[in-house]
Amino acid sequence: MYLFDADSIVVSTANELLRTHRPVSVEDQSCANCGQPAPCDAATNARQIQAAASLAGESAG
Ligand SMILES: [Zn+2]
Repeated sequence: MYLFDADSIVVSTANELLRTHRPVSVEDQSCANCGQPAPCDAATNARQIQAAASLAGESAG
């Protein structure tokens, strides 16, 4: 199980990926950045990192 500090570069990179890798529109569910069907691999990985980071934040609190 991988846990990340919420302030780490890994998490800020994940946030940036989620900002750029998202569907073009409601009608066009392909990624605006890489063109894969959303959620693309990058967005999926970024969400997993965010989920791990939020778990780490809760357990550290
Ligand atoms: Zn993408």
